[in-house]
Amino acid sequence: MAITLPSPPKVGMVSLGCPKALVDSERILTKLRADGYGLSPDYAGADVVLVNTCGFLDSAKEESLEAIGEAIAENGRVIVTGCMGNEADVIRARFPEVLAISGPHQYEAVVEAVHEAAPTVPNAFVDLVPEAGLKLTPRHYSYLKISEGCNHACAFCIIPSIRGGLVSRRPDAILREAEKLVAAGTRELLVISQDTSAYGVDIRHQPREWKGREVRAHMTDLAGELGRLGAWVRLHYVYPYPHVDQVIPLMAEGLVLPYLDIPFQHAAPSILKAMKRPANEAKVLERIRRWREICPDIAIRSTFVVGFPGETEGDFQYLLDWLDEAQLDRVGAFRFEPVEGAPANALPDPVPETVKEERYARIMEKTAAISAAKLAAKVGLTLDVIIDEVDADGGATGRSKADAPEIDGSVFLRNSRHLKAGDIAPVIIEDADEHDLYGAPISA
Ligand code: SF4
Repeated sequence: MAITLPSPPKVGMVSLGCPKALVDSERILTKLRADGYGLSPDYAGADVVLVNTCGFLDSAKEESLEAIGEAIAENGRVIVTGCMGNEADVIRARFPEVLAISGPHQYEAVVEAVHEAAPTVPNAFVDLVPEAGLKLTPRHYSYLKISEGCNHACAFCIIPSIRGGLVSRRPDAILREAEKLVAAGTRELLVISQDTSAYGVDIRHQPREWKGREVRAHMTDLAGELGRLGAWVRLHYVYPYPHVDQVIPLMAEGLVLPYLDIPFQHAAPSILKAMKRPANEAKVLERIRRWREICPDIAIRSTFVVGFPGETEGDFQYLLDWLDEAQLDRVGAFRFEPVEGAPANALPDPVPETVKEERYARIMEKTAAISAAKLAAKVGLTLDVIIDEVDADGGATGRSKADAPEIDGSVFLRNSRHLKAGDIAPVIIEDADEHDLYGAPISA
């Protein structure tokens, strides 16, 4: 029997402005073609028209507004992007019927708006990419990127110069992606970005409608909504801005995993200042204590750099003492290395390699001892464990809520032949070492 494929929606494009805008137009059209859209050379054949605008000079702005007006008159279904998108108020005032407006390089926002205005029909016979997208992780967990770039200028980092400033995704687009992932079998969503706490700052936390509710482009709203999708939600790269306190109750309620990945990098005030770290404030220890009062199970993971230029023995000892107080659950440490192009390379007083090595060994010893004590306290408890792998001999490897994949510890299970990857099973913890737990599923 012949299969009749539905004809794909068609997009028309009016591209104004400089070569950079042209490249943007090409990228947008390439993505739309990959998503199954057809292109229309005229207004009449298009299901939706994209106008990529220029706003460099007043004359270019007027030309852009005229192009929008023409597209509305000829077709009626118009999405505006490009430099004039930064003046959405001017466009809306003149053309309230425009379907969506986004700024330059916001490819994802444009593509998302086209999908909304003229949805494609998923078709297993022609789609190369499953509806939930291609994944490089196992089926049961997925990374969910909520923004790109970063507005900070940490002295050891070149990400802002490579990736540019913060560009946040729309909350409804993120939630739609997450919902598809969960429908496709994801049991754990790992929220990532360069700076998760800053999510939405660049788009002024603009709310979008999702399932009849207004959801702000804000970490707290997003975390709560993700938590309602029924998968584990794990937050990575969270800087301790004051509003982070708002997600701790969501953890206590069970909507979001009681897990915070906060890259502190150091504790000594002079080093944090030299590193130009964001949210560098003195009262972090007090806040950690409060978080643990609200959510006693919270696991805090962090990373630290030792041997940053100018780090004295006193600074390093301050860090070790701070770790004694903070009792973080998981810690990764790095020896400072100059990265080409990073401002830290020009700082005075580099720390000799032998001293870096010695400090690295000391911080690892300290954090391993803290981790071992924390894990030993879990022996005898029953913990929910997500299964990553079941071996041929009936053993399994999984993770508790305190363990992110790849970077934290594991829970090694016996008697697990009946389990499969992605199952979440109650496990009685029988033993522990410095980094891992050992146990058996209760149902075995
Ligand atoms: S290390 Fe600093 S500058 Fe680099 S991505 Fe993180 S917050 Fe931004």
